Amino acid sequence: HFMSTNDIRRSFLDYFEKAGHARVASAPLVPQNDPTLMFVNAGMVPFKNVFTGLETRPYGTAASSQKCVRAGGKHNDLDNVGYTARHHTFFEMLGNFSFGQYFKDQAITHAWTLLTKVWGLPADKLTVTVYHTDDEAFDLWKRIAGLPDDRIIRIATSDNFWTMGDSGPCGPCSEIFYDHGDHIPGGPPGSPDEDGDRFVEIWNLVFMQYEQLDNAIVGDLPKPSIDTGMGLERVAAVLQGCHDNYDTDTFKALIAASGALTGTATTGDNQASHRIIADHLRTSGFLVADGVLPANEGRGYVLRRIMRRAMRHAHLLGAKEPLMHRLVPSLIAEMGAAYPELLRAQASIESTLLQEERQFRRTLTNGLRLLDEATATMSAGDTLPGDTAFKLYDTFGFPYDLTEDALRGLDMHIDRAGFEAAMAEQKRAARAAWKGSGAKASDDIWFDIAEQSGSTEFLGYTATAGEGQVV
Ligand code: ATP
Ligand code: MG
Ligand code: MG
Ligand code: MG
Repeated sequence: HFMSTNDIRRSFLDYFEKAGHARVASAPLVPQNDPTLMFVNAGMVPFKNVFTGLETRPYGTAASSQKCVRAGGKHNDLDNVGYTARHHTFFEMLGNFSFGQYFKDQAITHAWTLLTKVWGLPADKLTVTVYHTDDEAFDLWKRIAGLPDDRIIRIATSDNFWTMGDSGPCGPCSEIFYDHGDHIPGGPPGSPDEDGDRFVEIWNLVFMQYEQLDNAIVGDLPKPSIDTGMGLERVAAVLQGCHDNYDTDTFKALIAASGALTGTATTGDNQASHRIIADHLRTSGFLVADGVLPANEGRGYVLRRIMRRAMRHAHLLGAKEPLMHRLVPSLIAEMGAAYPELLRAQASIESTLLQEERQFRRTLTNGLRLLDEATATMSAGDTLPGDTAFKLYDTFGFPYDLTEDALRGLDMHIDRAGFEAAMAEQKRAARAAWKGSGAKASDDIWFDIAEQSGSTEFLGYTATAGEGQVV
């Protein structure tokens, strides 16, 4: 029988609650315990201090459906959105957590039972990975799931070894993939074409087992712990018999609404635009509900970039008037029951979107004209000069990645170094002007802070970090 995305979330939480886990509500997207992290990007983030022992909770095991945003840092899925079947900037991560209670054996048993017994997924569509040295996990998958050796793939990269920064708990992880079938391009995990949409990673089980100090493992954790994360939208695609997250009930409804309001087909050339609009609508709505407003720096700038990128796609679809705020009722119809904060913030989400879209539309046409003129003399494979991209940013309010997204279809790129040089030159000139006006030393400090926060903005994750890691 058909399970809606809302049914699946409930079913996950019910399963783990029955198995003794505390049912914990999603934390807000703005991290409460970590000023260095831009947005919560994994289910374990709100439990970070519980895993390190800094904080205790009245439960030893928990389950949640955590709101996540990955639109910055090394975990930046922004560029994937609209173009892969499985990435969003906002998604929900279903997770079960054991704080020193159960370990690998039970974590694997729970995952396997839920996927194959409760949800009835065929075992032969599932493939798992383990860290290459983790014989224990390999043997458990064999014993518990009866998987043949060739569907327990040993991976030697950091993809299968999780750490919490340079110090703290760490350990191997094991990822579960669903094979959508050989009509979809893509290879099994660890193969050269693993990035396709055929084998989709649905669930990551992290086995926190060791203690790390300054990047070196210094011993075993006294109480090994479990952190898991499953993408709700990906498992919904699997359970709803489609291979594409954007064909699940929630996204179909949002895309249908954007098709109806723009009077456009949602397939063919328009497909990516509608997907980007649907994805960015969710991210914008949830961020505003959690108190983030569009701004020119920090979290607010990430939100502005996301909003404006969606707004350019609305314009591409021919929308003559602001569109995004009119989609909010559809978002609330789909997700408001699970996340009542959306309903409470409805007026504020709508007015923020409307104001931003009005403001952006004032310069959008002129900016696009400049871009068209610049690209008219270029051909596929060419690079847009950095100062043109900077002018689009500075004069027309085009975030860098929006210009990048606009050039994507033409197979053109931006001279990033040139863009950054133009930006640095403008900052230098602004600073000189402040000095010239007799401004005090404190203004210099302000510029330093602004520059620093500009440069730390995208450092939510480090290159070598494993999943769910807070830096
Ligand atoms: P991928 O390799 O597909 O980018 P990941 O390894 O970065 O995923 P994890 O950090 O392990 O993802 O997060 C746990 C789960 O969250 C993943 O197994 C996946 O189901 C889901 N997930 C991760 N990123 C996204 C995203 N951008 N959109 C939707 N779901 C996601
Ligand atoms: Mg990823
Ligand atoms: Mg992965
Ligand atoms: Mg993973």
